[in-house]
Amino acid sequence: AGTGKFFVGGNWKCNGTKDSISKLVADLNSATLENDVDVVVAPPFIYIDQVKRSLVDRIEISAQNSWIGKGGAFTGEISAEQLIDIGCKWVIHGHSERRHIIGEDDQFIGKKAAYALSQNLKVIACIGEKLDEREAGKTFDVCFQQLKGFADNVSSWTNIVIAYEPVWAIGTGKVATPEQAQEVHAAVRDWLKKNVSAEVASETRIIYGGSVNGSNCADLAKKEDIDGFLVGGASLKGPEFAVIVNSAT
Ligand code: PEP
Repeated sequence: AGTGKFFVGGNWKCNGTKDSISKLVADLNSATLENDVDVVVAPPFIYIDQVKRSLVDRIEISAQNSWIGKGGAFTGEISAEQLIDIGCKWVIHGHSERRHIIGEDDQFIGKKAAYALSQNLKVIACIGEKLDEREAGKTFDVCFQQLKGFADNVSSWTNIVIAYEPVWAIGTGKVATPEQAQEVHAAVRDWLKKNVSAEVASETRIIYGGSVNGSNCADLAKKEDIDGFLVGGASLKGPEFAVIVNSAT
C-alpha cells in the first residue's frame, strides 16, 4: 500500500461560466473538508484567475494541460511558467480525452510532464485502458506502456500523482469495481517498484478516476492501493465533491 496523504482532484474539463463557477467556488468555500486530504481543482484555463482569487487557499489549483517547453511562438498554448505566475500548483497530463480525442502520444505527454516538473508544477499523470484493450486482456500492458512514457522523461517522481482512469469508466456512469481498480493500482505500484524504485513505489499516490461519485467513493477508498480520486462530473457539484474528499475517513 502507499504511504502518501489521501488526494482528491476535481477535473472541471471544458465546463462552466463565470456565474456557474462563482457558485461552485462558494459551495467549496463553505464545505467542511477533512484536514488530512490534499484537495485540488482544475478549472478551464480562462477561469483559473477567477478561481484563484475567490477560492479558499486550502484547495490548490491545477491546470488541465501545459505546453511542452518554454513559452513563445506557440499559438493557443499556455506555458508552465505562466501557470506558476498565476498561482497554479498542479497540471494534469495524459488525460484520456487528450490521448484519444486530441491524439497526444506517450512520449509527448511524458515530455510535457517533465517540463512542467522542471518549472515546479506538480503533475497528475493519467493512464488507463480502453474497453477493447481490457476485453483483449491488455489492461496491464497499456497502463505500463503509458507509465513508461512518463518514466522515460521525468527525473523524479516526488511531485507526481498517478491517476488510473480506465477510459470505459470516464463519464459513462460505469465505475470500476473496487476490486478492478485495486488490481490495477497494485500492478502499477509493482511496476514502479521494478522499474523505478521501492521508495517511489511506496510513496507515489495512485488515485482512481472514472465515474466516482458521492455514493461509490467510500467502498473504493477502502482499498489499500487507492490513495484518492480524480473526479470529473461529480466535481462540478460542491457538496458531492466534499463527500468524495471526506470519503477516506
Ligand atoms: C475524468 O475525466 O478525469 C473523470 C474521472 O471523469 P468522470 O468522473 O466524469 O468519469
